[in-house]
Amino acid sequence: MLKRIYTALFCCGLIAPGWAQDVAIVIHGGAGTILKANMTPEREAAYVAALQEAVQTGYKLLKDGAKGEEAVVAAIQVMETSPLFNAGIGAVYTFEGQHELDASIMHGGTLNAGAVAGVKTIRSPIAAALAVMEQSPHVMLSGKGAEAFAESIGMKPVKNTLFNTERRYKALLKAKERILNANVPYGGQQGNERFGTVGAVVLDQYGNLVAGTSTGGMTAKRFGRIGDSPVIGAGTYADNESCAVSATGHGEYFIRFHVAADICSRMKYRNDTLADAANTVINDVLVKAEGDGGIIAVDAKGNIAAVFNTSGMYRAQIDTQGNLKVGIYQQWINE
Ligand code: ASP
Repeated sequence: MLKRIYTALFCCGLIAPGWAQDVAIVIHGGAGTILKANMTPEREAAYVAALQEAVQTGYKLLKDGAKGEEAVVAAIQVMETSPLFNAGIGAVYTFEGQHELDASIMHGGTLNAGAVAGVKTIRSPIAAALAVMEQSPHVMLSGKGAEAFAESIGMKPVKNTLFNTERRYKALLKAKERILNANVPYGGQQGNERFGTVGAVVLDQYGNLVAGTSTGGMTAKRFGRIGDSPVIGAGTYADNESCAVSATGHGEYFIRFHVAADICSRMKYRNDTLADAANTVINDVLVKAEGDGGIIAVDAKGNIAAVFNTSGMYRAQIDTQGNLKVGIYQQWINE
């Protein structure tokens, strides 16, 4: 009712546009060892531009009245299409030199969710995750089955080589050399080989919270390894009664500590604020366990959190007042 009155007043020009504005969005492009010393000005500018494009794409949709899931998918697709991020084009390589992509999405109003894991021929894994949520009775589809499902609903398969980039290939060669020399056939990934993911969380005009995450996973991963990103409760969670969370980091820890759901549960059952819940899980629980990474989150009031225990996390947000912030290192760039 209130919303209708606001909309009528807004449309008649009787209140400032800011009054009707109750949407918020936060995105991330992965956490990790991200140091200004290792960044060229050109590269930094390219990340800032891509993050801004992604967050503004989602925000515009939200302002135009799109549903949260549409905004989440659109923001993530900007990053899946950019070679800068470990998702879609630019995804890391598996040990065998392929790309196996994971993604998930969750709606905080219906608590419905969809995910795909280990897919090789789906151009936009986050779009496929949304299709699983909306067009199937399941929550998670994997590998060839997920690819067949995507094709059956009209998603044209792509060649796995579409996701190739030289930078990630070089990273694979380096990781493989070390893994083979150290004789650790099951892994032994170090530093940023464990990182890179994209995600978005939103509060839409209808009061719904939605979270989504998409990734290529871990460099040189083997044996069909799946991380936290497609696991509901670990890499992604949304509940209108608490918050929407998308995570990035060393997936094995995020699964074991069900990071995204833990943050929501702390708000729901302990009445923690979003800031306290996120901070405790990332900077206390995970730090004690030596799990590296971070999260972005938004709650039903539009409070925002972007918390990480690594040196950096690519991120951007537009709050309920329309303020845009972009960050890569500890401090926001434009604060
Ligand atoms: N969590 C992802 C994974 O483990 C990687 C990342 O977010 O950086 O697959």
